[in-house]
Amino acid sequence: MMFCPKCSAILLPKTEKGKKILECSCGYKKKKVDSFGIKEVMKEETKMEAVNEGDTDKTKPVADDVECPKCKHTKAYYWLIQTRSADEPATKFLKCLECKHTWRDYN
Ligand SMILES: [Zn+2]
Ligand SMILES: [Zn+2]
Repeated sequence: MMFCPKCSAILLPKTEKGKKILECSCGYKKKKVDSFGIKEVMKEETKMEAVNEGDTDKTKPVADDVECPKCKHTKAYYWLIQTRSADEPATKFLKCLECKHTWRDYN
C-alpha cells in the first residue's frame, strides 16, 4: 500500500492513458512501478558494483617516480584521501604494482 507524500491519504490505483498509476484525492499522481521493474534495477546496480570492486586498481593513476618500501619497485598506483578538514592537504596513498604493498606518502 502506498501513501500520498502530500496529504498521507492512501493512493488509489487507476489507469490513465493505458498506464497504471496511483492517484490521491488531493490530485497527487504517481506512476505505478511493479515489483519486477524494481528487481531489475537492483540486479543492474549489484552487477555494476561487482565490476567496480575488481577494477578499482586499474582505474587509478600510476606513479613511476616512487619506491616501494618493501620490494623497491618504482611503480605504484596512487590516490588521494582527504583525511581531516578541507584546509589540510590530502594524504597520498600508494599501492605497489609488484607486491601490492600499500603505504602512505608524506611529502
Ligand atoms: Zn494527497
Ligand atoms: Zn612492492
